[in-house]
Amino acid sequence: SGTIGIIGGGQLARMLAMAAARLNFRTIVLEPQADCPAAQVCNRQIVAAYDDEKALAELANVCDVVTYEFENVPVVAAQTLAASVPVFPPPQALSASQDRLTEKRFLNDCGIPTADFRQVDDQANLEAALSDFGGKGVLKTRRMGYDGKGQRVFKGGEDLTGAFDALGSVPLILESFIAFEREISIIAARFQDGSVTCYDPAENVHLAGILHTSTVPAKLSDAARTVAVESAEKLLAALDYVGVVGIEFFVLPDGSLVANEMAPRVHNTGHWTEAACVISQFEQHIRAVVGLSPGSTQRHSDCVMTNLIGDDIHDVPQWLAKTDCLVHLYGKTEARAGRKMGHVTALMNPGKPSLSRQNMP
Ligand code: ATP
Ligand code: MG
Ligand code: MG
Repeated sequence: SGTIGIIGGGQLARMLAMAAARLNFRTIVLEPQADCPAAQVCNRQIVAAYDDEKALAELANVCDVVTYEFENVPVVAAQTLAASVPVFPPPQALSASQDRLTEKRFLNDCGIPTADFRQVDDQANLEAALSDFGGKGVLKTRRMGYDGKGQRVFKGGEDLTGAFDALGSVPLILESFIAFEREISIIAARFQDGSVTCYDPAENVHLAGILHTSTVPAKLSDAARTVAVESAEKLLAALDYVGVVGIEFFVLPDGSLVANEMAPRVHNTGHWTEAACVISQFEQHIRAVVGLSPGSTQRHSDCVMTNLIGDDIHDVPQWLAKTDCLVHLYGKTEARAGRKMGHVTALMNPGKPSLSRQNMP
């Protein structure tokens, strides 16, 4: 037992808190929004900004270890905490991943290929970079983007007038356009003794920039599976990492992998593990940060995880009626368009039929 601090109070913190509770750990969430998804399941919430000095001092004081549920935790806040309490994943994982430019350089330094990229700080940079890439590319804000927000795809021949300013006049990155065949991700965890475990990669489909489904197993060669695992091992060792990481890849028509991005946290494409594995990514993360031993990442069923976005929340009765689906809702009351309300994992080859009056021996 002990007390785990979690920075951020969204659905990922909620699911981490639930996993922690099963192992008799207390959780204290630092989140400015009072009625956040994690509030209903954690032991206590400190309602303050992520960089509030008094709140950070209190968190360091009352927790045995601090972790986080999102990659935009201010690096200074994580470093301040790390001076007096273990912070896992380590703050350098935030520096490596919260800026897409730093992130791609870091991945390349680990020997992990990414799309070609150019730093874009003004309109002239953008025009030069696009012409380098033959007019095609994906322009992204370097920081704070998620669910495809802050991005523009160029297919060639567009009028570029005002294109830099249109993304908010913040530092940008242009990536070469990857004509991928499919997208996959791997959920890996590194433990305090340096050991690494990986779940089998998921195949991911996005709709309007937001993750729609994750299917396991992914259609992937054994060689590509090995590359995904080895990439995770290299990246985790380079960061002296502790905890769960999610790494997204594009699969090219020749079967090779190109990394898209990493997230130093539990990941939406790993939600299926709670239904199809004995130890979920959430428990694996808790085990890693508190210094317990790894759980098995073996899968007992193939599965498809579907996100419930906005009005999809109204489909819950149909999902429940399917009986082999694990429905997980985040306690959000307002179903705004594009908002992740929950997810459901359908098991594709569940084991034996359940016992009932009808089929009892
Ligand atoms: P997330 O919600 O996963 O954090 P994000 O906002 O950080 O998303 P990315 O993962 O960078 O955005 O991109 C979103 C999607 O856009 C990718 O999953 C992929 O489908 C497409 N995409 C991104 N970059 C490229 C690229 N360079 N070439 C082709 N498609 C791309
Ligand atoms: Mg992202
Ligand atoms: Mg992504």
